Amino acid sequence: MGHDLWAATQEALRQRVAEQTFQTWFKPISFLAKNDATLILKVPSQFFYEWVKSHYGELVEETVSGIAGEPMKVDYSIVLEEQKEAAPRPFFDDTQVPRQNKPKQTFSPNLNDQYIFTNFVEGPNNQFAKAAGQAVVEARDNSLYNPLVVYGGVGLGKTHLVQAVGNAFLELHPEKRVMYVTSEKFTLDYINAIKENKTAQFSRFYRSVDLLIVDDIQFFQKKVRTEEEFFHTFNELYMNGRRIILSTDRPPAELGLHSRLTSRFNAGLIVDIQEPDYETRVAILRQKADESGSEIPYEVVEFLAMNIDTNVRDLQGALIRLLAYASLVKSDISLNLARRVLAEVMNHHVAPNITVERIVEVVAENFGVKKVDIMGKGRRQEVALARQVAMYMAKQLTRNSLKSIGLSFGGRDHSTVIHAVKTIEEKTNRDELFNAEVKTLIRRLSESVMNQNS
Ligand code: ADP
Ligand code: MG
Repeated sequence: MGHDLWAATQEALRQRVAEQTFQTWFKPISFLAKNDATLILKVPSQFFYEWVKSHYGELVEETVSGIAGEPMKVDYSIVLEEQKEAAPRPFFDDTQVPRQNKPKQTFSPNLNDQYIFTNFVEGPNNQFAKAAGQAVVEARDNSLYNPLVVYGGVGLGKTHLVQAVGNAFLELHPEKRVMYVTSEKFTLDYINAIKENKTAQFSRFYRSVDLLIVDDIQFFQKKVRTEEEFFHTFNELYMNGRRIILSTDRPPAELGLHSRLTSRFNAGLIVDIQEPDYETRVAILRQKADESGSEIPYEVVEFLAMNIDTNVRDLQGALIRLLAYASLVKSDISLNLARRVLAEVMNHHVAPNITVERIVEVVAENFGVKKVDIMGKGRRQEVALARQVAMYMAKQLTRNSLKSIGLSFGGRDHSTVIHAVKTIEEKTNRDELFNAEVKTLIRRLSESVMNQNS
Protein backbone atom coordinates (compact mmCIF):
# COMPACT_ATOMS: atom_id res chain seq x y z
CA MET A 1 0.00 0.00 0.00
CA GLY A 2 2.72 2.40 1.01
CA HIS A 3 4.64 1.28 -2.07
CA ASP A 4 1.80 2.30 -4.32
CA LEU A 5 1.37 5.56 -2.52
CA TRP A 6 4.98 6.47 -3.12
CA ALA A 7 4.89 5.27 -6.73
CA ALA A 8 1.86 7.45 -7.40
CA THR A 9 3.51 10.36 -5.60
CA GLN A 10 6.59 9.99 -7.75
CA GLU A 11 4.44 10.15 -10.87
CA ALA A 12 2.70 13.26 -9.60
CA LEU A 13 6.01 14.88 -8.69
CA ARG A 14 7.28 14.16 -12.15
CA GLN A 15 4.45 16.28 -13.52
CA ARG A 16 5.22 19.10 -11.17
CA VAL A 17 8.95 19.58 -11.55
CA ALA A 18 11.46 19.71 -14.37
CA GLU A 19 12.56 16.28 -15.62
CA GLN A 20 16.14 16.95 -14.60
CA THR A 21 15.02 17.71 -11.07
CA PHE A 22 12.92 14.62 -10.98
CA GLN A 23 15.77 12.39 -12.14
CA THR A 24 18.24 13.91 -9.72
CA TRP A 25 16.15 14.16 -6.59
CA PHE A 26 13.02 12.06 -6.69
CA LYS A 27 13.86 9.02 -8.72
CA PRO A 28 16.55 7.82 -6.26
CA ILE A 29 14.11 7.93 -3.35
CA SER A 30 12.35 4.72 -2.51
CA PHE A 31 9.67 3.59 -0.15
CA LEU A 32 10.68 2.20 3.21
CA ALA A 33 7.67 2.05 5.50
CA LYS A 34 4.33 3.54 6.28
CA ASN A 35 3.16 4.14 9.77
CA ASP A 36 -0.26 5.71 10.30
CA ALA A 37 0.00 9.16 8.81
CA THR A 38 3.73 9.01 8.23
CA LEU A 39 5.45 7.85 5.09
CA ILE A 40 9.05 6.86 5.58
CA LEU A 41 11.30 7.14 2.57
CA LYS A 42 14.75 5.91 1.90
CA VAL A 43 17.41 8.33 0.70
CA PRO A 44 21.01 7.52 -0.23
CA SER A 45 22.99 10.03 1.83
CA GLN A 46 22.98 12.74 4.42
CA PHE A 47 23.65 15.34 1.74
CA PHE A 48 20.79 14.05 -0.32
CA TYR A 49 18.52 14.14 2.67
CA GLU A 50 19.45 17.72 3.51
CA TRP A 51 18.84 18.89 -0.01
CA VAL A 52 15.53 17.15 -0.59
CA LYS A 53 14.20 18.09 2.81
CA SER A 54 15.09 21.76 2.56
CA HIS A 55 14.16 22.30 -1.07
CA TYR A 56 11.32 19.92 -1.68
CA GLY A 57 10.20 18.82 1.77
CA GLU A 58 6.93 20.70 1.59
CA LEU A 59 6.26 19.80 -2.00
CA VAL A 60 6.68 16.11 -1.19
CA GLU A 61 4.43 16.22 1.86
CA GLU A 62 1.82 18.18 0.01
CA THR A 63 1.84 15.77 -2.92
CA VAL A 64 1.71 12.68 -0.75
CA SER A 65 -1.15 14.16 1.24
CA GLY A 66 -3.01 15.04 -1.93
CA ILE A 67 -2.74 11.49 -3.17
CA ALA A 68 -3.49 9.85 0.15
CA GLY A 69 -6.47 12.16 0.57
CA GLU A 70 -5.44 12.99 4.12
CA PRO A 71 -2.63 14.91 5.77
CA MET A 72 0.57 12.87 5.70
CA LYS A 73 3.96 13.49 7.19
CA VAL A 74 7.09 12.35 5.43
CA ASP A 75 10.20 11.18 7.21
CA TYR A 76 13.45 10.14 5.62
CA SER A 77 15.85 7.44 6.51
CA ILE A 78 19.37 7.42 5.20
CA VAL A 79 20.42 4.08 3.83
CA LEU A 80 23.91 3.93 2.45
CA GLU A 81 24.36 1.59 -0.47
CA GLU A 82 26.81 -0.77 1.22
CA GLN A 83 24.63 -0.99 4.30
CA LYS A 84 21.61 -2.26 2.48
CA GLU A 85 21.65 -5.54 4.31
CA ALA A 86 21.91 -4.04 7.76
CA ALA A 87 18.89 -2.63 9.46
CA PRO A 88 18.69 1.04 8.56
CA ARG A 89 19.15 3.46 11.36
CA PRO A 90 16.30 5.88 11.00
CA PHE A 91 17.43 9.45 10.78
CA PHE A 92 14.01 10.66 11.70
CA ASP A 93 12.95 10.94 15.22
CA ASP A 94 11.73 7.43 15.87
CA THR A 95 9.81 8.18 19.03
CA GLN A 96 7.59 10.39 16.92
CA VAL A 97 6.11 7.46 15.10
CA PRO A 98 3.69 5.64 17.32
CA ARG A 99 4.44 1.95 17.61
CA GLN A 100 1.52 0.39 19.35
CA ASN A 101 2.81 -3.05 20.03
CA LYS A 102 6.49 -2.40 20.64
CA PRO A 103 7.11 -0.82 24.02
CA LYS A 104 10.19 1.36 24.17
CA GLN A 105 12.98 -0.71 25.58
CA THR A 106 15.86 1.60 26.14
CA PHE A 107 16.22 5.26 26.63
CA SER A 108 17.07 6.78 23.29
CA PRO A 109 18.96 10.05 23.31
CA ASN A 110 17.68 10.71 19.84
CA LEU A 111 21.03 11.95 18.58
CA ASN A 112 22.38 11.69 15.06
CA ASP A 113 25.85 10.23 15.36
CA GLN A 114 27.06 12.10 12.30
CA TYR A 115 26.83 15.36 14.20
CA ILE A 116 30.07 15.37 16.12
CA PHE A 117 32.78 17.86 17.00
CA THR A 118 35.40 16.27 14.74
CA ASN A 119 33.50 17.07 11.58
CA PHE A 120 32.28 20.45 12.76
CA VAL A 121 34.58 22.84 10.94
CA GLU A 122 35.70 25.72 13.07
CA GLY A 123 35.93 29.30 11.85
CA PRO A 124 35.75 32.78 13.32
CA ASN A 125 31.98 32.58 12.88
CA ASN A 126 31.44 29.68 15.27
CA GLN A 127 34.64 29.43 17.31
CA PHE A 128 33.18 30.79 20.47
CA ALA A 129 30.03 28.70 20.23
CA LYS A 130 32.06 25.56 19.62
CA ALA A 131 34.40 26.30 22.52
CA ALA A 132 31.42 26.88 24.79
CA GLY A 133 29.93 23.57 23.69
CA GLN A 134 33.17 21.76 24.44
CA ALA A 135 33.47 23.47 27.79
CA VAL A 136 30.00 22.23 28.70
CA VAL A 137 31.04 18.67 27.94
CA GLU A 138 34.14 18.86 30.07
CA ALA A 139 32.83 20.97 32.93
CA ARG A 140 32.70 19.28 36.30
CA ASP A 141 30.40 21.89 37.66
CA ASN A 142 26.98 21.65 36.06
CA SER A 143 26.19 25.25 36.77
CA LEU A 144 28.91 26.43 34.39
CA TYR A 145 27.24 27.91 31.30
CA ASN A 146 23.88 26.53 32.27
CA PRO A 147 21.84 26.88 30.21
CA LEU A 148 23.90 27.20 27.04
CA VAL A 149 21.86 29.00 24.43
CA VAL A 150 23.04 28.89 20.81
CA TYR A 151 21.47 31.22 18.32
CA GLY A 152 22.00 31.83 14.61
CA GLY A 153 20.29 31.86 11.23
CA VAL A 154 19.15 28.77 9.36
CA GLY A 155 21.68 26.33 8.08
CA LEU A 156 24.57 27.71 10.10
CA GLY A 157 25.19 24.62 12.21
CA LYS A 158 23.10 25.01 15.37
CA THR A 159 21.65 21.52 15.24
CA HIS A 160 25.02 20.05 14.37
CA LEU A 161 26.68 21.81 17.28
CA VAL A 162 24.12 21.08 19.97
CA GLN A 163 24.00 17.44 18.94
CA ALA A 164 27.81 17.29 18.96
CA VAL A 165 27.66 18.40 22.58
CA GLY A 166 25.14 15.65 23.31
CA ASN A 167 27.23 13.00 21.58
CA ALA A 168 30.45 14.04 23.30
CA PHE A 169 28.74 14.25 26.68
CA LEU A 170 27.36 10.78 26.27
CA GLU A 171 30.72 9.44 25.24
CA LEU A 172 32.27 10.86 28.38
CA HIS A 173 29.37 9.84 30.62
CA PRO A 174 27.76 6.77 29.07
CA GLU A 175 25.65 6.26 32.17
CA LYS A 176 23.94 9.64 31.90
CA ARG A 177 20.62 10.32 30.28
CA VAL A 178 20.95 12.68 27.36
CA MET A 179 17.91 13.73 25.41
CA TYR A 180 17.78 15.71 22.20
CA VAL A 181 14.41 17.00 21.15
CA THR A 182 13.13 19.67 18.83
CA SER A 183 10.66 22.08 20.31
CA GLU A 184 8.15 20.79 17.80
CA LYS A 185 8.57 17.27 19.06
CA PHE A 186 8.31 18.46 22.64
CA THR A 187 5.08 20.23 21.73
CA LEU A 188 3.72 17.21 19.93
CA ASP A 189 4.55 14.93 22.83
CA TYR A 190 2.88 17.31 25.19
CA ILE A 191 -0.28 17.55 23.13
CA ASN A 192 -0.43 13.77 22.90
CA ALA A 193 0.11 13.48 26.63
CA ILE A 194 -2.83 15.77 27.23
CA LYS A 195 -4.99 13.81 24.82
CA GLU A 196 -4.11 10.54 26.48
CA ASN A 197 -4.20 11.81 30.03
CA LYS A 198 -0.54 11.13 30.46
CA THR A 199 0.82 14.50 31.43
CA ALA A 200 2.28 13.07 34.61
CA GLN A 201 4.34 10.56 32.62
CA PHE A 202 5.32 13.28 30.23
CA SER A 203 6.67 15.44 33.04
CA ARG A 204 8.40 12.56 34.72
CA PHE A 205 10.10 11.56 31.49
CA TYR A 206 11.43 14.96 30.55
CA ARG A 207 12.44 15.77 34.10
CA SER A 208 14.49 12.62 34.46
CA VAL A 209 17.13 13.73 32.02
CA ASP A 210 20.71 14.74 32.88
CA LEU A 211 21.28 16.76 29.75
CA LEU A 212 18.29 18.10 27.89
CA ILE A 213 18.85 19.63 24.46
CA VAL A 214 15.94 21.51 22.96
CA ASP A 215 16.43 22.63 19.37
CA ASP A 216 14.68 25.60 17.74
CA ILE A 217 12.88 26.97 20.75
CA GLN A 218 11.49 29.82 18.65
CA PHE A 219 8.64 27.42 17.88
CA PHE A 220 7.41 27.69 21.44
CA GLN A 221 6.36 31.20 20.62
CA LYS A 222 2.59 31.65 21.01
CA LYS A 223 2.10 28.05 22.12
CA VAL A 224 1.19 29.22 25.56
CA ARG A 225 0.54 25.93 27.27
CA THR A 226 3.59 24.21 25.85
CA GLU A 227 5.75 27.16 26.74
CA GLU A 228 4.39 26.94 30.25
CA GLU A 229 5.16 23.24 30.45
CA PHE A 230 8.61 23.83 29.02
CA PHE A 231 9.20 26.51 31.62
CA HIS A 232 8.39 24.09 34.42
CA THR A 233 10.56 21.36 32.93
CA PHE A 234 13.36 23.85 32.50
CA ASN A 235 13.02 25.08 36.06
CA GLU A 236 12.98 21.68 37.56
CA LEU A 237 16.03 20.50 35.64
CA TYR A 238 17.80 23.73 36.40
CA MET A 239 17.05 23.58 40.12
CA ASN A 240 18.27 20.00 40.23
CA GLY A 241 21.55 20.96 38.63
CA ARG A 242 20.87 19.23 35.34
CA ARG A 243 22.27 20.53 32.08
CA ILE A 244 20.21 22.36 29.50
CA ILE A 245 21.20 23.37 25.99
CA LEU A 246 18.90 25.37 23.77
CA SER A 247 19.05 26.65 20.23
CA THR A 248 17.09 29.38 18.54
CA ASP A 249 17.16 31.20 15.23
CA ARG A 250 17.16 34.65 16.81
CA PRO A 251 18.56 36.36 19.90
CA PRO A 252 16.64 35.23 23.01
CA ALA A 253 15.42 38.73 23.71
CA GLU A 254 13.60 38.70 20.37
CA LEU A 255 11.96 35.35 20.92
CA GLY A 256 8.70 36.70 22.22
CA LEU A 257 8.77 34.13 25.01
CA HIS A 258 7.87 35.01 28.55
CA SER A 259 10.60 36.98 30.27
CA ARG A 260 10.55 34.75 33.33
CA LEU A 261 11.90 32.08 30.97
CA THR A 262 14.30 34.17 28.91
CA SER A 263 15.67 36.01 31.95
CA ARG A 264 16.91 32.65 33.17
CA PHE A 265 19.10 32.43 30.11
CA ASN A 266 21.25 35.25 31.37
CA ALA A 267 22.42 33.06 34.20
CA GLY A 268 23.99 30.79 31.62
CA LEU A 269 25.77 31.64 28.41
CA ILE A 270 24.35 32.91 25.15
CA VAL A 271 26.49 32.37 22.07
CA ASP A 272 25.85 33.03 18.42
CA ILE A 273 26.89 31.45 15.13
CA GLN A 274 27.41 33.77 12.20
CA GLU A 275 27.70 33.14 8.47
CA PRO A 276 31.00 31.46 7.61
CA ASP A 277 33.62 33.59 5.88
CA TYR A 278 35.31 32.52 2.65
CA GLU A 279 38.11 30.49 4.24
CA THR A 280 35.68 28.66 6.47
CA ARG A 281 33.45 27.90 3.50
CA VAL A 282 36.41 26.39 1.70
CA ALA A 283 37.27 24.29 4.76
CA ILE A 284 33.68 23.10 5.10
CA LEU A 285 33.46 22.10 1.45
CA ARG A 286 36.67 20.15 1.69
CA GLN A 287 35.42 18.41 4.77
CA LYS A 288 32.13 17.50 3.09
CA ALA A 289 33.89 16.33 -0.05
CA ASP A 290 36.12 14.10 2.08
CA GLU A 291 33.13 12.69 3.90
CA SER A 292 31.48 11.77 0.63
CA GLY A 293 34.69 10.16 -0.57
CA SER A 294 34.84 12.26 -3.72
CA GLU A 295 37.76 13.99 -5.32
CA ILE A 296 36.87 17.55 -6.01
CA PRO A 297 39.37 19.83 -7.76
CA TYR A 298 40.43 22.72 -5.63
CA GLU A 299 39.35 25.28 -8.22
CA VAL A 300 35.84 23.90 -7.97
CA VAL A 301 35.86 24.17 -4.21
CA GLU A 302 37.06 27.75 -4.51
CA PHE A 303 34.45 28.54 -7.08
CA LEU A 304 31.61 27.27 -4.92
CA ALA A 305 32.94 28.93 -1.78
CA MET A 306 33.27 32.21 -3.61
CA ASN A 307 29.78 32.14 -5.00
CA ILE A 308 27.67 30.69 -2.24
CA ASP A 309 27.83 32.82 0.82
CA THR A 310 24.46 32.28 2.40
CA ASN A 311 24.85 29.35 4.77
CA VAL A 312 26.37 25.94 5.21
CA ARG A 313 23.25 24.11 4.16
CA ASP A 314 23.21 25.85 0.78
CA LEU A 315 26.90 25.20 0.36
CA GLN A 316 26.39 21.56 1.06
CA GLY A 317 23.34 21.50 -1.18
CA ALA A 318 25.34 22.82 -4.12
CA LEU A 319 28.00 20.21 -3.53
CA ILE A 320 25.58 17.31 -3.44
CA ARG A 321 23.89 18.57 -6.56
CA LEU A 322 27.25 18.75 -8.23
CA LEU A 323 28.09 15.19 -7.20
CA ALA A 324 24.69 13.96 -8.32
CA TYR A 325 25.08 15.62 -11.72
CA ALA A 326 28.53 14.29 -12.24
CA SER A 327 27.38 10.76 -11.58
CA LEU A 328 24.25 11.19 -13.64
CA VAL A 329 25.93 12.48 -16.74
CA LYS A 330 28.99 10.35 -15.97
CA SER A 331 31.41 13.20 -16.19
CA ASP A 332 34.26 14.41 -14.03
CA ILE A 333 33.70 17.17 -11.59
CA SER A 334 34.93 20.21 -13.43
CA LEU A 335 34.65 23.93 -13.17
CA ASN A 336 32.29 23.89 -16.12
CA LEU A 337 29.96 21.46 -14.50
CA ALA A 338 30.11 23.51 -11.31
CA ARG A 339 29.12 26.62 -13.24
CA ARG A 340 26.06 24.88 -14.63
CA VAL A 341 25.02 23.50 -11.29
CA LEU A 342 25.50 26.80 -9.58
CA ALA A 343 23.43 28.62 -12.17
CA GLU A 344 20.59 26.27 -11.35
CA VAL A 345 21.03 26.52 -7.61
CA MET A 346 20.87 30.28 -7.83
CA ASN A 347 17.94 30.16 -10.19
CA HIS A 348 16.05 28.13 -7.72
CA HIS A 349 15.02 31.38 -6.13
CA VAL A 350 15.88 34.07 -8.63
CA ALA A 351 15.10 33.13 -12.20
CA PRO A 352 16.03 35.68 -14.84
CA ASN A 353 12.67 35.23 -16.52
CA ILE A 354 10.63 36.15 -13.50
CA THR A 355 9.39 39.64 -14.16
CA VAL A 356 7.11 41.89 -12.16
CA GLU A 357 4.63 41.60 -14.98
CA ARG A 358 4.54 37.80 -14.72
CA ILE A 359 4.18 38.01 -10.95
CA VAL A 360 1.27 40.40 -11.28
CA GLU A 361 -0.40 38.04 -13.74
CA VAL A 362 -0.21 35.07 -11.42
CA VAL A 363 -1.27 37.06 -8.36
CA ALA A 364 -4.17 38.73 -10.16
CA GLU A 365 -5.47 35.39 -11.28
CA ASN A 366 -5.17 33.92 -7.82
CA PHE A 367 -6.97 36.78 -6.06
CA GLY A 368 -9.51 37.32 -8.80
CA VAL A 369 -8.60 40.95 -9.32
CA LYS A 370 -7.51 42.85 -12.42
CA LYS A 371 -3.88 43.32 -13.36
CA VAL A 372 -4.37 47.01 -13.97
CA ASP A 373 -5.80 47.39 -10.49
CA ILE A 374 -2.78 45.80 -8.89
CA MET A 375 -0.46 48.04 -10.87
CA GLY A 376 -2.66 51.06 -10.20
CA LYS A 377 -3.46 53.34 -7.32
CA GLY A 378 -6.72 51.92 -6.02
CA ARG A 379 -7.02 51.14 -2.32
CA ARG A 380 -9.79 48.58 -2.29
CA GLN A 381 -8.94 46.02 0.32
CA GLU A 382 -8.66 42.89 -1.78
CA VAL A 383 -6.63 44.77 -4.35
CA ALA A 384 -4.39 46.14 -1.61
CA LEU A 385 -3.66 42.64 -0.30
CA ALA A 386 -3.01 41.26 -3.79
CA ARG A 387 -0.69 44.18 -4.44
CA GLN A 388 1.24 43.58 -1.25
CA VAL A 389 1.65 39.93 -2.11
CA ALA A 390 2.88 40.87 -5.58
CA MET A 391 5.35 43.37 -4.13
CA TYR A 392 6.57 40.79 -1.69
CA MET A 393 7.08 38.26 -4.45
CA ALA A 394 8.83 40.82 -6.62
CA LYS A 395 11.24 41.49 -3.78
CA GLN A 396 11.85 37.78 -3.19
CA LEU A 397 12.02 36.55 -6.75
CA THR A 398 13.60 39.28 -8.83
CA ARG A 399 16.74 41.32 -8.46
CA ASN A 400 14.83 44.56 -8.92
CA SER A 401 15.57 47.28 -6.41
CA LEU A 402 12.92 48.41 -3.94
CA LYS A 403 12.72 51.64 -5.82
CA SER A 404 12.08 50.01 -9.16
CA ILE A 405 9.52 47.67 -7.62
CA GLY A 406 7.70 50.64 -6.14
CA LEU A 407 7.68 52.34 -9.51
CA SER A 408 6.16 49.26 -11.16
CA PHE A 409 3.23 49.43 -8.77
CA GLY A 410 1.63 52.75 -9.55
CA GLY A 411 4.74 54.83 -8.84
CA ARG A 412 4.83 54.06 -5.13
CA ASP A 413 7.98 54.74 -3.20
CA HIS A 414 10.37 52.22 -1.72
CA SER A 415 9.06 52.54 1.83
CA THR A 416 5.70 51.26 0.61
CA VAL A 417 7.46 48.19 -0.74
CA ILE A 418 9.26 47.64 2.57
CA HIS A 419 5.97 47.94 4.37
CA ALA A 420 4.35 45.42 2.03
CA VAL A 421 7.19 42.93 2.49
CA LYS A 422 6.97 43.20 6.27
CA THR A 423 3.20 42.92 6.27
CA ILE A 424 3.23 39.79 4.16
CA GLU A 425 6.06 38.25 6.15
CA GLU A 426 4.13 38.78 9.36
CA LYS A 427 0.94 37.48 7.86
CA THR A 428 2.64 34.33 6.57
CA ASN A 429 4.12 33.75 10.02
CA ARG A 430 0.76 34.11 11.67
CA ASP A 431 -1.50 32.41 9.22
CA GLU A 432 -0.66 28.89 8.05
CA LEU A 433 -3.20 28.89 5.27
CA PHE A 434 -2.09 32.19 3.88
CA ASN A 435 1.50 31.01 4.08
CA ALA A 436 0.66 27.93 2.04
CA GLU A 437 -1.14 30.09 -0.51
CA VAL A 438 1.86 32.36 -1.00
CA LYS A 439 4.22 29.40 -1.25
CA THR A 440 2.03 27.82 -3.88
CA LEU A 441 2.03 31.03 -5.87
CA ILE A 442 5.80 31.22 -5.73
CA ARG A 443 6.18 27.65 -6.83
CA ARG A 444 3.68 27.97 -9.62
CA LEU A 445 5.51 30.99 -10.90
CA SER A 446 8.98 29.44 -10.66
CA GLU A 447 7.80 26.35 -12.43
CA SER A 448 6.06 28.13 -15.25
CA VAL A 449 9.24 30.11 -15.78
CA MET A 450 11.42 27.03 -15.60
CA ASN A 451 9.30 25.28 -18.20
CA GLN A 452 9.68 28.27 -20.50
CA ASN A 453 13.42 27.86 -20.17
CA SER A 454 13.66 24.24 -21.02
P1 ADP B 1 20.86 24.84 11.66
O1 ADP B 1 20.41 23.89 12.73
O2 ADP B 1 21.58 26.04 12.20
O3 ADP B 1 19.79 25.24 10.70
P2 ADP B 1 22.41 22.58 10.79
O4 ADP B 1 23.12 22.25 12.04
O5 ADP B 1 21.26 21.73 10.42
O6 ADP B 1 21.97 24.11 10.78
O7 ADP B 1 23.48 22.62 9.61
C1 ADP B 1 23.12 22.45 8.25
C2 ADP B 1 24.10 21.51 7.60
O8 ADP B 1 25.36 22.14 7.53
C3 ADP B 1 24.30 20.25 8.39
O9 ADP B 1 24.43 19.18 7.49
C4 ADP B 1 25.60 20.45 9.12
O10 ADP B 1 26.31 19.24 9.30
C5 ADP B 1 26.35 21.38 8.19
N1 ADP B 1 27.21 22.28 8.94
C6 ADP B 1 26.87 23.46 9.51
N2 ADP B 1 27.92 24.04 10.09
C7 ADP B 1 28.97 23.23 9.88
C8 ADP B 1 30.35 23.28 10.22
N3 ADP B 1 30.85 24.30 10.91
N4 ADP B 1 31.12 22.25 9.84
C9 ADP B 1 30.63 21.22 9.13
N5 ADP B 1 29.35 21.12 8.76
C10 ADP B 1 28.51 22.10 9.13
MG1 MG C 1 18.54 23.12 13.07
